Amino acid sequence: MRAQLAPVLTGRRFEHVEISDPRLVRPYEPAEVAAELGGERVAAVERRGKYLIVRFESKRVLLIHLRMTGSLRHTSTGLDEDPHRRAVVKLDDGSDVAYRDVRRFGTWLVLEPGELEPYLAARVGEEPLDALFTAARLGERLERRRAPIKAALLDQRTLAGLGNIYVDEALWRARIHPLRPAESIDRNELRRLYKGIRAALEAGIARQGSTLRDYALPDGGSGSMQHEFKVYGRGGEPCDRCGTPIAKTRVGGRGTWFCPACQPERQAGASPSSRPSRSRRQSSV
Ligand SMILES: [Zn+2]
Repeated sequence: MRAQLAPVLTGRRFEHVEISDPRLVRPYEPAEVAAELGGERVAAVERRGKYLIVRFESKRVLLIHLRMTGSLRHTSTGLDEDPHRRAVVKLDDGSDVAYRDVRRFGTWLVLEPGELEPYLAARVGEEPLDALFTAARLGERLERRRAPIKAALLDQRTLAGLGNIYVDEALWRARIHPLRPAESIDRNELRRLYKGIRAALEAGIARQGSTLRDYALPDGGSGSMQHEFKVYGRGGEPCDRCGTPIAKTRVGGRGTWFCPACQPERQAGASPSSRPSRSRRQSSV
């Protein structure tokens, strides 16, 4: 989404902004936020984790989180009727950017110069696709954490941007069971997990995301990652690697898919006596 919006937004001025849903900007007043955004010129469109960052020349920022069903649509041919539209930005070239959100969990937040970095630092961990991110750094993030590896990876402060789909896909690539305690992941598994996370995210970005329910790209097209899922949503279908039917369970309240043969719950090659005492105690209860 960022890749499509950057070329159409960069250098453009927000001529007029209309926010029709108070939930999008609460606790602030929609009319006030819309007025603040009017006249701003876009310097860059970036992403951190699941946040879309619209940087203005004034150094102020519009921080957008799409949550479950938010999407942005850019059009030069006028807008159709849409009961789920929550905001419209009219640009100085006459085109429109419309924000649509069926379930209304998405948020728009205007930040003053200097506010963005501390805001994100408190909420979002390292970027897994950043060149500076290494397997060792991932290991540091998982140390002494008893939570299931899936829950640890869904925590945005561990790593930025991994959601339910990409965690399942990364764990399948790494051949790690989603319920394994994060602290029990050994060095070899850590390397596989590091590669698996990056490969799963890169595949998703290359295919422009996955189109489930209401997702759409800014140009009206749809992503195709859903055709490439290895485990997510594929319960009962054969594993691409070994043919075993994909199993479904729940971890932290989230639907979770994995291959019971490729991703054994017990660490491969580890005898019970060589496992950390804490996880042995956990698995015996
Ligand atoms: Zn398998």
